[in-house]
Amino acid sequence: MSNLAPTAAAESFVSEPSAATLEALPGRLTDLAGLPIRRLLPRSGRRLVGPWCFLDSYGPLEFAAGKPIDVAPHPHVGLQTVSWLLEGEIVHNDSLGLRGSGAPGVLNLMTAGRGIAHSEETPTPNGGRLRGLQLWVALPETHRGTAPGFEQHRNLPIAALPGARATVILGRALGLVSPAQAFSPIVAAEIAIEAGCRVAFPLERDFEHAVVPLQGAAALDARTLEIDTLYYLGTGRRELLLAAEGGPACVLLLGGAPFGETILMWWNFVARTTEEIVAAREDWEAGRRFGSVAAYAGERLPAPPFVARPVARP
Ligand code: MN
Repeated sequence: MSNLAPTAAAESFVSEPSAATLEALPGRLTDLAGLPIRRLLPRSGRRLVGPWCFLDSYGPLEFAAGKPIDVAPHPHVGLQTVSWLLEGEIVHNDSLGLRGSGAPGVLNLMTAGRGIAHSEETPTPNGGRLRGLQLWVALPETHRGTAPGFEQHRNLPIAALPGARATVILGRALGLVSPAQAFSPIVAAEIAIEAGCRVAFPLERDFEHAVVPLQGAAALDARTLEIDTLYYLGTGRRELLLAAEGGPACVLLLGGAPFGETILMWWNFVARTTEEIVAAREDWEAGRRFGSVAAYAGERLPAPPFVARPVARP
């Protein structure tokens, strides 16, 4: 999706992993073209978790008519978008001519690399419900100019644990490896815990991790967690001790090697310099580089104004 209300100037994101901790960052309520969303990343004080640089959560929502999601064609560079649904449907179309209909359990992964444009919208017909997540992964210096692409994965590996099931969305967990393409050491898993059950979920000790409760009442280290709050865990943890209190619960685990690069983010671009952002913006405005999304019926999104002021380096 698109970051519709960027700051006027680019924001500098420094990779600053902490030692093992439990830091609660409640989602900040904002909206995406009228759809209420909670922004969990970036937050002040916590810009990156491994290579994860953006996370919006939306729904649960019931609707009788219209399209709660209708994001017109817009460009991306330097990142991957991860679209993950818990309920409902979304259709992706991009400037490579690729189309993917998203549904719960299906990963839509777009690699922007040097540049791509896409749209995302609620299809017709639909089930009248919506609950999902939109995440971005920053590409490392060595791969950020890669060719754009789009992958859909309908059969992600699922690990069965006593009292829980974990879908490995990206990277590796519990000995299972996601088929989705990753460019730096990373993990994303949806962990569904049965009512009243406890699970010890092993972690990569060198990774930086975060947990986001999505449904039900989950507890971590015996602390009850709030839905749509990002719990930053730092590095150095060997396992997650999760429990479902009362009914079943579902959480998202995110992690990766500390990114180690300072990125510059503005609108839908992840870059390293102001000049790159200006060039990407100008290319979009001039109809260069990104191509067009022929399958979308309507106008594309114009780039917001950009103030190319010097970026403060911490
Ligand atoms: Mn997008």
